Amino acid sequence: MRQIVRLTAGKVLRSDLLIADEKEVAARILRDNPHFGNPHVVLCNWCHETQTLFRDESDGPFAAMAHGWWCKSCDVRAASQEVKF
Ligand SMILES: [Zn+2]
Repeated sequence: MRQIVRLTAGKVLRSDLLIADEKEVAARILRDNPHFGNPHVVLCNWCHETQTLFRDESDGPFAAMAHGWWCKSCDVRAASQEVKF
């Protein structure tokens, strides 16, 4: 389910051509699972790696911290943007 929200979040950021149904499905999943929180698009300004992650997720070079993410490849804090539906 999280993967559906993740993919939709990526589309929301890329364009507003998103099908309303898709956005509604993602919004409903988040409503039904409030513990998920909103997904964040995490970007390292050094290596330009990007991932869409939930707050408790670490993936690729990104390690979740108390606040935000750390890029392990570059040893720097990554930028992140919350995606709201
Ligand atoms: Zn990096």
